Amino acid sequence: MLNQKFPSIIKNKLFLLTIILLVLTIVLAVLFQSRIFLILGVGGPATFIAGFIFLLLWNIPSIPTKVEIKADPKEIIADGKSKSFITIQLLDKKGRPIPAPNDTEVKLTSTGGKLESAFVKIPKGKEKAETVLISSRESGKIDLAADASGLESIDIKLNFMEKPRYCMHCGTMMKLNGKSCQNCGKTPPSGVDTKSCPNCESVIPVVAKFCAECGAGQAA
Ligand SMILES: [Zn+2]
Ligand SMILES: [Zn+2]
Repeated sequence: MLNQKFPSIIKNKLFLLTIILLVLTIVLAVLFQSRIFLILGVGGPATFIAGFIFLLLWNIPSIPTKVEIKADPKEIIADGKSKSFITIQLLDKKGRPIPAPNDTEVKLTSTGGKLESAFVKIPKGKEKAETVLISSRESGKIDLAADASGLESIDIKLNFMEKPRYCMHCGTMMKLNGKSCQNCGKTPPSGVDTKSCPNCESVIPVVAKFCAECGAGQAA
């Protein structure tokens, strides 16, 4: 268990030390050309230490250094109910997925939308945890960041897309927050009788020539 706490830099230094000791042994052996010196003086302890260190290195598992966030999909409709499935994954320093050495709590922060859970736990021995992000009604890009003690976070951006809406007069796709159609300048009819779109079953004004939800032309 202690081995898992070895930071990789120490691991690298131990490796370097091993190499230096072995080289030193060989150099001294060549310089003095003495078998006794080699075996008793430096060779014995150096080889012993090298062997011990190698044994130690062999037992050191890689440790997670990064936490990566993935979103599927990265673009969802800004309707306050669309979902993106979020995966939080532990990576080693080379970017390979790696199991958690201990239960790892990760705090998620989002600049928009709503996380099903802001804290997720990656259980010991598992590589990842999951949660869900629900869009807000405000469109635009948001940042999603993970915070787990001592781990570098690979943050991502998600895009909440404007919900397509069609002009009921001319069928042009309108902006979600646009009050009038950018093509014909008319505003959607309001306070009138409604009907159901034969194409998508949305409730739309009787006078609508086009469905606001799906853009389908309506029979006169
Ligand atoms: Zn229009
Ligand atoms: Zn429709």
